[in-house]
Amino acid sequence: MARDSLAAYRAKRDFNVTGEPRGEPATPASGRARFVIQKHAATRLHYDLRLEHKDVFLSWAVTRGPSRDPHDKRLAVQVEDHPLDYGDFEGTIPKGQYGGGTVMLWDRGWWAPEPGFDVDAGLEKGELKVVFAGERMRGGWALVRLKHDREHGRRVNWLLIKHRDEFVHEPDPDFLEQTATSVTSGRTMEEIAAGAPLEPTRTRRV
Ligand code: MN
Repeated sequence: MARDSLAAYRAKRDFNVTGEPRGEPATPASGRARFVIQKHAATRLHYDLRLEHKDVFLSWAVTRGPSRDPHDKRLAVQVEDHPLDYGDFEGTIPKGQYGGGTVMLWDRGWWAPEPGFDVDAGLEKGELKVVFAGERMRGGWALVRLKHDREHGRRVNWLLIKHRDEFVHEPDPDFLEQTATSVTSGRTMEEIAAGAPLEPTRTRRV
């Protein structure tokens, strides 16, 4: 199943040119489900949200990045499933390659559906209720697929919306400015693009 699911991912990339993972052999699925958000300076800057589900990352490109303000719904365009190896990728995809540009690990940690929520039924229906335990993404969020929005016959446009809980910031205009460095390496986008050396690994509290 993972192989079929990753066919679109592989078809778009020349692994002789890009340093992105092939997803083969796949990183084994973990006991807990991981998530990662990668800040990606491609043609347009966006934030790629990836949720481990079964043995791949379900993936959405969040065009304006997440907001902790429940009023501030952010468009999240579903993209092809990514291999689990992708969760450790930070670097620069060569120009001319699919998604060419710099990729930063903006956040990572664990996610779970809200208690009692069935993820597969939610994907079918177009609504996911997610609880994040990351460094920057905390608490409950919803992903809701737009009903009347089709692209190539496939509905791909969702909204990412913060749920009301103790992690709400209302309003939240400076979230992305205050979180402008890599959660794993401490580097800025410019430092990653320049191939600056990694800072010593930081202790993570998840
Ligand atoms: Mn991207």
